Amino acid sequence: MQKNCFTVNNLSNLSRSRTSWQLLFICLILTGLNYTAASQEYFQQKVSFRIDVTLDDQRNTLNAFEMVEYINNSPDTLHFIYFHLWPNGYKNNNTELAKQLFRAEGKGKLYNDPELSGYIDSLDFKIDGHQVQWNLLPGQPDICRIWLTKDLKPHDTLKITTPFHVKIPKGVTSRLGHIGESYQISQWFPKPAVYDKSGWHQMSYLDQGEFYSEFGDFDVRITLPSNYIVGATGNLQNEMESEMLNKLAADTSWNSTSATAGSDFPPSSMQMKTLRYTQNNIHDFAWFADKRFHVLKGKVKLPDSGREVTTWVMFTNQQSGIWKDALSYVNNSIMYFSKWNGDYPYQSFTALQSALGAGDGMEYPGITVIGMAKNAYRLDEVIAHEIAHSWHYSALGSDERRYPFMDEGITSANEVRYMNERYPLKKLWEVYLDQRKLAKFFHIDKMPVRQMPESEWLAQARQNLEQPINLASSDFSILNYSLMIYNKTGMGFQYLRAYLGDSRYDSAMKDYYSRWKFKHPQPEDLCASFETSMGKNLTWFFSDFIGTTKRLDYEVVRLENQQLLVKNKGELASPLLICGLAGDSICFKKWVEGFEGEKWIELPQGTYTEIKIDPNHVMPELFRLNNNIRKTGIFPKSDPIRAQLYFTLEDPEKRYLMYIPALNWTRENGLMVGVALHNGFLTPKPIEYFVMPFFTFNNSGLAGFGKIAYNITPFEKTIRMATISLEGTQFGAPGNQNYQSLKAGLNLNFRSNKMVDPLTHKVFGNYIAASDLFQIVHMEKALMRSYLQLGYLLEKSCIINPFSMLASAESGPSYLKTSVELNYKLSYYGKKNGLDMRLFAGTMLRNNPGVPFYAFSASGRSGREQYLYQGTYPDRFSIFPTSFWSRQMTLSEGGLVSPVNETLGYSRWLISLSFTGSLPGKMSRIPVKPFANILLNDHGQATSSDSPFFYEAGLKAGLWNFFEIYIPLVVSTNIASIAGPLKERIRLVFNLNSFNQVKLNSGFGIQFR
Ligand SMILES: [Zn+2]
Repeated sequence: MQKNCFTVNNLSNLSRSRTSWQLLFICLILTGLNYTAASQEYFQQKVSFRIDVTLDDQRNTLNAFEMVEYINNSPDTLHFIYFHLWPNGYKNNNTELAKQLFRAEGKGKLYNDPELSGYIDSLDFKIDGHQVQWNLLPGQPDICRIWLTKDLKPHDTLKITTPFHVKIPKGVTSRLGHIGESYQISQWFPKPAVYDKSGWHQMSYLDQGEFYSEFGDFDVRITLPSNYIVGATGNLQNEMESEMLNKLAADTSWNSTSATAGSDFPPSSMQMKTLRYTQNNIHDFAWFADKRFHVLKGKVKLPDSGREVTTWVMFTNQQSGIWKDALSYVNNSIMYFSKWNGDYPYQSFTALQSALGAGDGMEYPGITVIGMAKNAYRLDEVIAHEIAHSWHYSALGSDERRYPFMDEGITSANEVRYMNERYPLKKLWEVYLDQRKLAKFFHIDKMPVRQMPESEWLAQARQNLEQPINLASSDFSILNYSLMIYNKTGMGFQYLRAYLGDSRYDSAMKDYYSRWKFKHPQPEDLCASFETSMGKNLTWFFSDFIGTTKRLDYEVVRLENQQLLVKNKGELASPLLICGLAGDSICFKKWVEGFEGEKWIELPQGTYTEIKIDPNHVMPELFRLNNNIRKTGIFPKSDPIRAQLYFTLEDPEKRYLMYIPALNWTRENGLMVGVALHNGFLTPKPIEYFVMPFFTFNNSGLAGFGKIAYNITPFEKTIRMATISLEGTQFGAPGNQNYQSLKAGLNLNFRSNKMVDPLTHKVFGNYIAASDLFQIVHMEKALMRSYLQLGYLLEKSCIINPFSMLASAESGPSYLKTSVELNYKLSYYGKKNGLDMRLFAGTMLRNNPGVPFYAFSASGRSGREQYLYQGTYPDRFSIFPTSFWSRQMTLSEGGLVSPVNETLGYSRWLISLSFTGSLPGKMSRIPVKPFANILLNDHGQATSSDSPFFYEAGLKAGLWNFFEIYIPLVVSTNIASIAGPLKERIRLVFNLNSFNQVKLNSGFGIQFR
């Protein structure tokens, strides 16, 4: 499958890593210590099919009969056989598929919607004409177990028959489906699970996570209205149909029609036709039917055998402009991949365009379906990717569910190599930005297209969020499935090829292919093919790079005479490429075997002026700023600093100073002009800074904000990332002075033991020094006060029902307090909608009655109550409700909207419960949400009531988390008597993105693929 496009925003999708026992298990497998399994002789079952199927395009159903011939080549006697009934994955919302889609996309009607649901039924399994006992697995209606009437002994053959009926779902949720009368028929028939040396591999159908099937011979007859054009696995056996397709292929009149012409489906013919397809030695069969297809036909002569392969392309008017040259993409791909991996395994290949609910393209033996392509370049890329699967999926039938890297990773490496051959000068902006002016502005006009997969991977790797490549698909977060399997594995095999050289790499790959063609290879078989063929130990690659998250980071230390001292700062001791450069041209290339610690490396003589490790990015290096040294100069290791307006996609070989002109206003400072300086948002770095100094017109002195953070990412430790930070703020205050705050913080983010719906936790400690707010608001000369905060945050950041728990303690001038805050979202349909609940409880362990606002506030604090000066308040010290901005508050602690703090006083203890929810259904798009708050505290000294119990309910409107107006319509009598009429209770939240939020939300406006 070609992965879907995703955006930079996904980088904020924090996810975590594996447990050590898994790692141990992986090591055992990879080092071949798994003696019991390895000692058993290889075998594979043979499973052949004869299927007769009829498409009912009125009801969108299939009626079929299948006969399965099962040959038991195993040394074991079988008493039952697992069959996959994968259309049942779409049956209801309790299937594994539904659960996975919910986790990724949030709750929804999904398969409760009769249009989206699908199923398989009318099954009646018989062996030798006798009915057999069978049952669906509990909780997995897409798997059944058939009990054999007679034991199936080694080398015995069995014939199982069954009729079946499939309701085809609307093709928007995954791979099987129809859009109108366009049909994508895949994973559609009852099919035995694989039985191999480690036993049965029954598995539910999934979207993220692919397949593992037995090889056999297929004979499939498809009956459907005669004006459908069909693309299918295998070789068409009907001469009349072949002639019809040849005629269609000769007709190129579609070239002059517009994209919208003929998008309606022509009526189906009353006449039916039956098409027969056969193919030996395949493990799946898919077919696609559309009455609107245009057809192109071509052929390729394979480089090794000289055999001719017939190629087909099918598409509709909708994409005809992009698909007009698609035959050349197919032919070129088959040619290149045959040259690199060995000859294409079948007689024909078809690429066709259809709606696809999963990924950008999907592979099946001899055929691929491609979704909507953005442009010809992307189409070439997706087609190439899917054709590369003809080797690493179709012919080499690995267990993709268990080892997705074996098909998707190697396929990605093939795809990238193909694209490099075909478009060697392609720039990143041409694919992702499309506008040269914009590219020039961001200084990425010279960046090669390969920079994108590297940058995507770096964003995750630098946060220490990687997972070992050889995990099962279900162990990866959605983001890591893409970044580890596609990006990193793809880069890894490119690295291995660069190190071994094309011809040696290709011969090892060909050896692997010829040994394991039409079989089920395991990772150790791939490793053995490479090691035997190279006569070389490749543990660094197959065990360390594939089986762990060891990181690659070599550092150039010193250059003396012709000797270069290099230090391995990473954990991966893998080969490194040292190059001598004169300007942009490479004078020499030298591969050095991997090592630990430091090593002196002899350099050849030459006229080069700079030495650089891996200038062309063939090694997955984590840090590249330490990769180079010049032969002369005072600072031979320094890197040029590039100034950049706003921000950009960073080149990991350069340092950046990015600047953003900024305007600001506060009551005391007046208009301010300044600049925000930072060293990049998109690629995480060990040292990150963001400073925003302002020149103020009203108030003398400097105003502004600054933060610098140092991130430490230890390898495989309990702590994933430790961040030490220092931040400072200074702005004007009443009485012609400034308020200041300084914060030194330590954050310890712990590693999660799984990455799918991870439970993350961290502890933090802050030392804060801030101007005494009491003195500031009384316009006295303010002294600095010290505060200490300690806390623990537990968070489950999943899409459905996320929650967090924050426990914290704070001490300051003669007070000590502690609190717990629980947040829980009860999710509704959709990604973000739900009922948010918040419980807050706090108590003063020591109190300072002299400064009341150190105790807990019942209402959201206004600026003049924020003794630590949090938030961005344009009119921080204004008295409520004298001005618009005086209504600004930050919702925390008691969480009441109605302003009661000043009159009521602050609480020694309080407990509160808050609710806010999006409106149900389509109304959730209206920017209005109801809210309700309940609060109990230690004193209710209101004028009309002494009740310690408060409540309010109302509506809020605005842009969520940025600017919101709160209107408490209904309030308890004690609130009404304190806060007054409704207009005196309306308040607002204005939350300028903090440094971190800016970082996480900085959409670059470009699509990551
Ligand atoms: Zn793929």
